[in-house]
Amino acid sequence: MHNLPSTVKNAIVDLRARSADPISAFVYDLEGLQTHIKQVMAALPENVELFYAIKANSDTEILNTLAPWVNGFEISSGGEIERIARCQQRLPFIFSGPGKLDSELEAAIHQKVAAIHVESISEIHRLQAIAKKLNHTQAVFLRINPTLPDTLSSRLTMAGRATPFGIDEMDLQEAVNAVDDSPNLLLEGFHVHAMSHQKSLTKHQMLIDFYLERWPHWKALSNKPDNITHMNVGGGIGVNYRQETQFDWSAFCHYLDCVLKRTPDSPILRFEPGRFISAFCGYYAMEVLDKKTSHGESFVICRGGTHQFRLPVAQSHDHPVIHLPLHNNISEDHKPEDKRRWTLVGQLCTPKDILSRTCELSLCEVGDILVLPLAGAYGYNISHAAFLCHPTPLMTYLPIQTPIEHGSTTRVKQTFNEETSCVAS
Ligand SMILES: *Cc1c(COP(=O)(O)O)cnc(C)c1O
Repeated sequence: MHNLPSTVKNAIVDLRARSADPISAFVYDLEGLQTHIKQVMAALPENVELFYAIKANSDTEILNTLAPWVNGFEISSGGEIERIARCQQRLPFIFSGPGKLDSELEAAIHQKVAAIHVESISEIHRLQAIAKKLNHTQAVFLRINPTLPDTLSSRLTMAGRATPFGIDEMDLQEAVNAVDDSPNLLLEGFHVHAMSHQKSLTKHQMLIDFYLERWPHWKALSNKPDNITHMNVGGGIGVNYRQETQFDWSAFCHYLDCVLKRTPDSPILRFEPGRFISAFCGYYAMEVLDKKTSHGESFVICRGGTHQFRLPVAQSHDHPVIHLPLHNNISEDHKPEDKRRWTLVGQLCTPKDILSRTCELSLCEVGDILVLPLAGAYGYNISHAAFLCHPTPLMTYLPIQTPIEHGSTTRVKQTFNEETSCVAS
């Protein structure tokens, strides 16, 4: 199954040695994050950009690690504007989300936001008034909630049905007119973030095909179509929490290169993934406090819980677990073949505090540490850490060991052979 980098393992052992109490801790492997983002960016073809959606994980160390490589950040609140302002490097940023405050729109303009993704017709009028007051011309993208073909839905669909996000296609002409008629707004592109948890390469390719098919129609709605250069196709690339095989990003990029080359007047495509960028670098470590059997089910009770790592309950999945045997009292009465299926729970006084029901462990003892990988996105930051007044988990960011390189000069753009076909795999 999943393997634990030795740096992460050593850090956990070290944290334990320095703590009087059993521990729960998040460990972030920044070197691993850097390796991943370099690969993701190197695979991008010509005319494709990637902005990191920081709501997946906006910790300063994560942003600083990504900043040399990505084209920018995608944010959705005033608090997130403050997060990127703390980052060592200033990068272009874009602002989406329903219910933006006037004060947030003003703050974004003051921080030189690259584009604001407008989510409703009334927001267009509000933004025009703010831009006028600040004597500024603001680039905007219109967020669209298109009617999607049935075959394209994933687990968490943000478009193609009733949602608070974006503008229905039937209202798009009115929205485009409203932007065209706003002297302080400039329509630069369209935005669709329709999916989350997309694990199917083929379906994501079909989604891109669908957007590119709609693109000339959307663009033609404007009386200044030449200003419209970008199609932001959102994030939503999934992470496979149950198996090792992940979304084939390089095959996907290869496909993008082909379709963009064969599409006349193609847009600059912009992606804004969150989960697929930061999930892999995070590890949540929980120390075993107790074991018991209740009505025939074996429970392993650990430090921490879903108030610190809500992801498995939020997505109702059994999270994978790596067993780190650290106990020093190997008991005689256990044999390695004593492998059992455990239910892994935390310290909360609620039966919902379950991280996995299918945890296969042998020789699991009090004092061992169970490590939950794939914890770097929507992990601690979506959790209800104040519940039951437990202390917050330990947090460690393992620094990058390799010498600093500068993304802008060393970024290798992969070019693909024109002969290769655009067949979906
Ligand atoms: C949350 C969000 C993203 C990132 O989604 P992931 O599933 O983490 O890739 C991108 N764009 C918008 C508008 C979002 O709300």
